[in-house]
Amino acid sequence: MVSRDSVGQAQSTAERPLYACIEAGGTKWNLAVACERSALLRTARVATTTPVATIGESLAFFDAARSELGPIAAIGIASFGPLDIDRASPNWGHILRTPKPGWTGADVVTPFTDALGCPAGLDTDVNGAALAEGLWGAARGCRSATYVTVGTGIGGGALIGGHTLRGHGHPEMGHIAVHRHPEDDFAGSCPFHGDCLEGVANGPAINARWGCSLSELPEDHPGRAIIAYYLAQLAVGQLAMLASDRIVVGGGVLATPGLLARIRAEAERLAAGYFGTRDFDALIVPPALGDDAGVLGALALAMRVVGADTGA
Ligand code: ZN
Repeated sequence: MVSRDSVGQAQSTAERPLYACIEAGGTKWNLAVACERSALLRTARVATTTPVATIGESLAFFDAARSELGPIAAIGIASFGPLDIDRASPNWGHILRTPKPGWTGADVVTPFTDALGCPAGLDTDVNGAALAEGLWGAARGCRSATYVTVGTGIGGGALIGGHTLRGHGHPEMGHIAVHRHPEDDFAGSCPFHGDCLEGVANGPAINARWGCSLSELPEDHPGRAIIAYYLAQLAVGQLAMLASDRIVVGGGVLATPGLLARIRAEAERLAAGYFGTRDFDALIVPPALGDDAGVLGALALAMRVVGADTGA
């Protein structure tokens, strides 16, 4: 476990409730104990290995923080999926069928609510990040906003009228069908759909085609335009279906220099002027909360479950 204490942050007081926060990712869990958006009092990172080990290490972190700082008012969990986020379901808080070994059926909520004796707010990692960006970041004040991450997988969450989008399950924006780029004959790597968006544009699909990450390709390599073309289709789909005020795009693949600009240009070309006069530089933006979007999403979920003022 890697942990650090925040420097110069005040300790919690009885007037400032403490929240436990988990951004449960597929490769690592980011943990925090916070009393408000600007005060992450303790943070740590644990590797996503087995449910028993990862949850156990996380519990140990919260236990230590709690004995130092005081009781936890609520926990927020923003988790990788597929995940049952229906509170009325007997499987609420369980990971659904996933290729990740050992995680199908894992309960990522009850071990924490039992140990900490507090209620939990739960959502997907990308819905959580959309919520945090909507409250405190790049989508502040937006009526309809999405958060998309492009990395090992492709996921998207949405914040509509202040609520994260959920229904029968949660959005699975990475699995939309895309028009294939004429210069791309890659079969696709999604075990369910082959050449859905995730199957052609996530990190592993990029690596399978070109043997390296997108940022390692030469500046003029056609792969850069191909990936931008696919991701732009998701952006235009969001415009068409969700009337997006803002589309926040992050994740490892977006660290590729110039990719965001290519996606904006390609989305504008594909939109073909249909969705009104839009400034695509203002529409498609990077996360304002950077790497903290996920864990701050968990904080927002915790605050909301006890009706705390998020200050937004
Ligand atoms: Zn798929």
